[in-house]
Amino acid sequence: MKLYSTNDKTNIVNLEKATLRSLPDDNGLYLPLSIPELEKDFINNLSNYSFPEIAFEISRKIIGTEIPTNILEQICFNAINFPAPLLQLSNNIYTHELFHGPSLAFKDFGARFMAELMSYFVKEKEQKLTILVATSGDTGGAVAAGFHNIPNIEVIILYPSGKVSPIQEKQLTTWGDNIHAIEWVGTFDDCQAVVKKTFLDKGLISEFNLSSANSINIARLIPQTFYYFEAIKHLDVNKAITISVPSGNLGNITAASLARHMGLPITNLIAAHNSNSAVFEYYNNRSYLPKNSISTMSNAMDVGNPSNFPRYLELYESDYETLIRNTEAFIISDNKTKESLLELYEQFNYISEPHAAVAYAALKKSKTFHIGQQVFLGTAHPAKFQELVQSILPVKIESPQPLSSLENHIQNKIRLASYDAFKKWMLSR
Ligand SMILES: *Cc1c(COP(=O)(O)O)cnc(C)c1O
Repeated sequence: MKLYSTNDKTNIVNLEKATLRSLPDDNGLYLPLSIPELEKDFINNLSNYSFPEIAFEISRKIIGTEIPTNILEQICFNAINFPAPLLQLSNNIYTHELFHGPSLAFKDFGARFMAELMSYFVKEKEQKLTILVATSGDTGGAVAAGFHNIPNIEVIILYPSGKVSPIQEKQLTTWGDNIHAIEWVGTFDDCQAVVKKTFLDKGLISEFNLSSANSINIARLIPQTFYYFEAIKHLDVNKAITISVPSGNLGNITAASLARHMGLPITNLIAAHNSNSAVFEYYNNRSYLPKNSISTMSNAMDVGNPSNFPRYLELYESDYETLIRNTEAFIISDNKTKESLLELYEQFNYISEPHAAVAYAALKKSKTFHIGQQVFLGTAHPAKFQELVQSILPVKIESPQPLSSLENHIQNKIRLASYDAFKKWMLSR
């Protein structure tokens, strides 16, 4: 597989390098040099394939021969080992539940597939790898679950002290073994700054083979295309299909756009944002201005400057007209999010959570809302936002097994407040 950097089309690497490095040196983002189109026969007969079989068919096309076919098949079956059901709520409205993996968020798809790929590449090179990841909550949990007990890989997770929910903190700190959690006295931005500084620190890069697991890694994006095919296998491809994606860093909708390039018939795609409006304003004004993030109910989407934005645009030929012909963007306030959550409950008896509620509210604003089939993605299990959802809906939410089994686990974390202390800790290990 060949990938180029969005900042320099001549900067070409293979999948191994793109996965282990995460970012090109020129600060661009990696994209496949050519995106294969899947056979019509496959697209029209998706329902003959299981979810992992769909994953394997797509992987084989896009990854090609860089990984031996039998190993690639194993990777797909190991990573995609939980379902993504499409629930029909009314005649034409569906929700695609992507939260049945180990950390109960859709980020499990990306994290598990990346863990399998990295594990394969590390084994081939007989290397040891240290992965650094800064998290505001969900990413760290999915990465920890995906990499736990993978040989020759150590994971160091930095999260901001007091700024993740108690459930999220348990999902970060109760693993042990090769997963190390650092409670950083500071903000998420401080955590990201530590990761950046580490990658530039000669004293550390000479000691460790470092990688990162952030959402701009192409190995997280490829598996996120799989579930769009899985959704559409239950729909009528001869009728219009609109998909609303709860968006923050735009990784998920970038993956949907990749799936479209592979021939998946999505009529309209919606970037559903909370009050963080940088993308929405680009759609309105044709100019993109990064912002500071604003705190909202749908906190996993509190992103002021979405890191996938250049890659998303590139998939629409970096052309404004092409983008707005094929996609829409909306912002939904916290008040509207609450109303949307209530409406889903009252009209369809469906218990949702704030991120999906943003996507549903945006779907209703779409120009294609009355045409064909409507899908909004569910990116997190309502139990991850138990208190918030229970304060809005007259329901009691039970913790599903992956969360309830965390209750009694012992937390294992290191509290740090300065880069010097962090460096000392790294070197002492
Ligand atoms: C990360 C996340 C999002 C945003 O996805 P992007 O790929 O960053 O746009 C939405 N919902 C939930 C629950 C998330 O964890």
